[in-house]
Amino acid sequence: MSHSGNWEVVIGLEVHVQLATESKIFSGTSTRTGDEPNRHASLIDLGMPGTLPVVNKEAIRNAIRFGLAVNADIARRSVFERKNYFYPDLPKGYQTTQLAEPIVGAGEVEVQLENGDKKVVRIHHAHLEEDAGKSLHEDFHGQTGIDLNRAGTPLIEIVSEPDMSGAEDAVAFARKLHSIVTSLGICDGDMSQGNMRFDVNISVRRPGEPLGTRTETKNLNSFRFMEKAIALEVARQIDVLEDGGEIVQETRLYNGETNTARSMRTKEDANDYRYFPCPDLLPVMVSEEEIQTLRDELPELPDARKARYIEQYQLSAYDADLLSGSIATARYFETAAEHGGDAKLAANWVMGELAAKLNAEDKDISDSPVSAEHLGELIQRLKDGTISSKIAKQVFEACWNGEGSPDRIIEAQGLKQMSDSGELEKIVDQVIADSPAQVEDYRNADDAKRKKKIGFFVGQVMKATQGKANPQQVNQLLQQKL
Ligand code: ADP
Ligand code: MG
Repeated sequence: MSHSGNWEVVIGLEVHVQLATESKIFSGTSTRTGDEPNRHASLIDLGMPGTLPVVNKEAIRNAIRFGLAVNADIARRSVFERKNYFYPDLPKGYQTTQLAEPIVGAGEVEVQLENGDKKVVRIHHAHLEEDAGKSLHEDFHGQTGIDLNRAGTPLIEIVSEPDMSGAEDAVAFARKLHSIVTSLGICDGDMSQGNMRFDVNISVRRPGEPLGTRTETKNLNSFRFMEKAIALEVARQIDVLEDGGEIVQETRLYNGETNTARSMRTKEDANDYRYFPCPDLLPVMVSEEEIQTLRDELPELPDARKARYIEQYQLSAYDADLLSGSIATARYFETAAEHGGDAKLAANWVMGELAAKLNAEDKDISDSPVSAEHLGELIQRLKDGTISSKIAKQVFEACWNGEGSPDRIIEAQGLKQMSDSGELEKIVDQVIADSPAQVEDYRNADDAKRKKKIGFFVGQVMKATQGKANPQQVNQLLQQKL
């Protein structure tokens, strides 16, 4: 459908980040996942009468670490409140969260766009809260199972200002947040498990007009879905408005399999939840010294890592951004570069061959069948001339298929580049003897043309050696002989 005139898109994100603490936010129960339902649900997690919650200090520290990483104000005093609503997987009848006095105040994040521009997205605040349990519909006929293992798992919810103006901004911001929390080590970043989930608020307006009514598309758990869901919702809103309709403020659910979305509920206001400060929990007080200690202990963050890659490895800003953008990729790249002794080659392989394979098989770099050490070994063999780059791709493929380490594969399949110049000379002589017409043609050509014509002979030699000859050596020999 074509739309008339200009529309501006306005996007703000709310992001739930599951904190990687050992125990829950208000109890000592394990946060482990994958066990049978309700193994890790204590009386406190269920809010039973007579129990009292105790705040997990590490959850507080993790929230502060995030705040420091985005240059936010850290509240010296923050307050937990009860957000009251009924849901089967929330047996307490309320979620303990923060509203008026969150632990992390205003901050900002800089994102890199494809055209080279940078953009600042402001963080409105981030607050601590507990996760709910899970409702299970699949294994039950006409019934719903409730698994409360996740109930009480600590989360931070990061709320951005509506500073993004399209899917590219939003995805870049989401990726940056992912990179920050995984670099900090406060979240494992596993989006497929819902450990980081994105709610996207979208509105459109004519340039110069006030902000339009927004909708919220909830729980997007991949960057690709986020991009698609935004495109879909923007188009829908413009259609509605151009048909003279109005946008209803509502929560929408996106289905990635069908690339469709539907309305889930019209949006409640905060006053529907009857928030009030939780009488069971004291305000959280944090001292300047504690904040300073956490600041001093911050690990390397994505922006600093990118700058280091440019400086230390002489990578372009673009390459450095790609490689430093995810902690898993960064670790892989650095290990491969170190083992291989060549950062530029490691960068090329990680962004080229490896990325292509991972992409094709829809694998995460942390599940790569070729380990960073093995890629390093492969790079070493390339550098020391044991194999040509053509053979290297073959070795990589074999290593990917689980045939062993590069050295073993090279040995077992006899892939070593021919280093015996006597043997190579024989093959070169043979190729020349077999191609009298081409030799004649070559000899009659001028220097410029010869450069091109020699390619035929190089090709023949490579074919005869199954790619194992060193192309430079072949070139030299041919020039001499011809
Ligand atoms: P509420 O508290 O009612 O949910 P907020 O003001 O906290 O609303 O905003 C929630 C999210 O929606 C924030 O990420 C904010 O940036 C975004 N947002 C607010 N207004 C708009 C708008 N008109 N268009 C797009 N996003 C918006
Ligand atoms: Mg809100």
